[in-house]
Amino acid sequence: GRTIGILGVGQLGRMLASAAAKLGFKVAVYGPEVEKSPAGQFATIRVDGAYEDAAAVEAFARGCDVVTYEFENVPASTAAAVTKAGVELRPNARALEASQERVREKNLFRKLKIGTVDFWPIADARDLAKALPKAGPSILKTCRFGYDGKGQARLQGDEDPEAVLAELGGGPWILEAMARFEREVSLVAARSVHGEIAYFDLCENQHKHGILARSVIPAEASASVKEQAREAVRKVLEHLDYIGVLTVEFFDCDGTLLANEMAPRVHNSGHHTLEACSVSQFEQQIRAVAGWPLRDAETVRPMEMLNLIGEEIEAWDELAADPEVDLTLYGKREARPGRKMGHAVRPWRK
Ligand code: ATP
Ligand code: MG
Ligand code: MG
Repeated sequence: GRTIGILGVGQLGRMLASAAAKLGFKVAVYGPEVEKSPAGQFATIRVDGAYEDAAAVEAFARGCDVVTYEFENVPASTAAAVTKAGVELRPNARALEASQERVREKNLFRKLKIGTVDFWPIADARDLAKALPKAGPSILKTCRFGYDGKGQARLQGDEDPEAVLAELGGGPWILEAMARFEREVSLVAARSVHGEIAYFDLCENQHKHGILARSVIPAEASASVKEQAREAVRKVLEHLDYIGVLTVEFFDCDGTLLANEMAPRVHNSGHHTLEACSVSQFEQQIRAVAGWPLRDAETVRPMEMLNLIGEEIEAWDELAADPEVDLTLYGKREARPGRKMGHAVRPWRK
């Protein structure tokens, strides 16, 4: 049988592995402490190793027919090691580069004429001192490695630049004007080896403390908003000659969409595609990277998804007992504050 390789050991890898197994593939997972990881528990082949270990990655890739990933911080050297093994990385290394660094990501959106908030690259306190008065209320973010709202500071515009950078750490940074949005939405879509694109419906997303808390599919959106989102995603997919699932997060500012960031992978705001849609984001990703045709991704039943974060353990019992709730738990060994432990999906009625 054919083997799909996955870089990354978390819950996204776990759900990808499950979708690959459904289609009859063998699943090989690579990453640190893979043995008892959420993804490792579902894999046929587990290889424990560091992403930076190019020789180990190359050996892993040789055992696979194609390699994909569940996180965007795959180092460039890791991507190169897969290519060196003569195996295709899907999505490609350009997709990784474009989404690993926030300034580069926003510059790509701009180049493709996709709207964003105003932003300023920040290398040091002098840059911040110049930009802050222009930006006013804004968000300072580390350019790399931020997720779930980590590596961000909300600013009013009158702070001391030196102190702010010292406290946040981890430069370079990007200063973003605060978007005044009515709501946040995301679009998950896939592109096949033949260039065909299948879009899921837009999701509406609510965050708590910078972490996705709730997502509804489909978002209530005008034809114009839906079209703006599809157009933006199509441009990125085609520009990067992308194969696989891509997610773009947007701010809806009074009917005008501004792209916030993108993820070159399946996404937390697409988990309920499993229950809501004619195909899940995970199966669509496996189909795309395996070179299969995509399926139509229409919403069959509107659903809402609630993330189970940290120690909200008591709620699990209640959710497990609710006949309307479809519960997914990631098999993580310990709950920590802010850690995504599972999610609950239930029918969405207005
Ligand atoms: P993720 O877990 O989605 O990868 P992240 O840590 O990469 O998150 P962002 O998506 O950039 O961070 O920001 C997290 C949240 O903070 C956004 O979903 C939004 O609610 C808020 N936010 C970020 N940037 C802005 C902005 N420029 N204006 C207003 N709100 C913002
Ligand atoms: Mg992000
Ligand atoms: Mg985000």
